[in-house]
Amino acid sequence: MINHIVIIGASVSGHNIALKIRDKHKGCKITLISEEGYPAYDHLKLADFISGTIEEKDIFLCSEDDYLKRDINFIKNKKVKSLNTQKGSVYFKDKGSIDYNILVIASGRSPVIPDIPGARKEGAYRLYVLDDAKELLKRYIAHPVCIVGSNSLSLKIAEAILEKYGVEVKVLSRTTFDSSDIPPKTEIISDCLSEVIGEGEIQAVKLKSGKALGVCAVLFMDDYKSNIDFLKDTDILVQDDFVIVNGWMATNHDNIFACGSVVRKDSVVISLMLADNIINRLDKEDSRDAKVYSPGTI
Ligand SMILES: Cc1cc2nc3c(=O)[nH]c(=O)nc-3n(C[C@H](O)[C@H](O)[C@H](O)COP(=O)(O)OP(=O)(O)OC[C@H]3O[C@@H](n4cnc5c(N)ncnc54)[C@H](O)[C@@H]3O)c2cc1C
Repeated sequence: MINHIVIIGASVSGHNIALKIRDKHKGCKITLISEEGYPAYDHLKLADFISGTIEEKDIFLCSEDDYLKRDINFIKNKKVKSLNTQKGSVYFKDKGSIDYNILVIASGRSPVIPDIPGARKEGAYRLYVLDDAKELLKRYIAHPVCIVGSNSLSLKIAEAILEKYGVEVKVLSRTTFDSSDIPPKTEIISDCLSEVIGEGEIQAVKLKSGKALGVCAVLFMDDYKSNIDFLKDTDILVQDDFVIVNGWMATNHDNIFACGSVVRKDSVVISLMLADNIINRLDKEDSRDAKVYSPGTI
């Protein structure tokens, strides 16, 4: 039987796993699924793309052609909606399904848009994927921008906005940053957002302290949540919003693995270790099948 490895999420983790497995194992089928319309790209370069330091083509880790050449079935613009772990099937949001023998969950974590008045106004959105960065670049920005974000990514994006538009950035943060890391024209404010104000266009944000800041856009880069809604009706174990895995990155199903930011131990090295683990397993199955089917076997 030909093994079918299905990977949900074509970002750094999913992409690396697909390539490494294919490099070492030619006899399996590999499907890499992304809800985005692009092959894998480097999220860390989104800030450089926004600032204009690099072009869109420079952020991709490969082209769709590269997947084709490597015999990796790349499915784009398809959101996984649910799983049936008994049948070994992945179901898509629009329609259709795909069966797997081995499943890898590499769907990452994305910032949540908070449930506050005005948070869904035009110009207030999360910054996570390439399309979000493109949306931001479509806007006319001539006034300060507010970033809701407590990690170093927020500062990278603040710096990119300053470079691109020359405007001030107000970062609402729950953490304190080293002053040497804070870009010029960036103010770190230790407060929370309570409302986004403006008729049509955003004009200001109101903070919990009652203070108001005049801004023309709001970027949500905080409160990250794992993209694992598709696990809802399964018995795959999740704790504190992270998929639980053992040292081999296997979930409580021995043919379902998880890696990247949906697990607590996120690193490229771990993703590659998981690929090795899957390759070993495929090699073992191949040699077992060879023993069973070899005409010379007694
Ligand atoms: C602007 C920015 C800057 C960053 N800078 C840094 C940094 O400096 N240092 C650092 O360590 N980290 C940084 N990060 C975080 C880093 O990019 C992540 O840790 C890394 O991308 C995690 O990779 P991943 O493969 O686990 O998941 P992700 O990169 O989150 O990708 C998951 C993929 O799965 C897809 N997906 C999700 N749900 C579904 C579904 N239901 N169906 C189909 N596809 C789905 C998503 O569209 C996405 O393509 C940054 C992130 C951003 C956005």
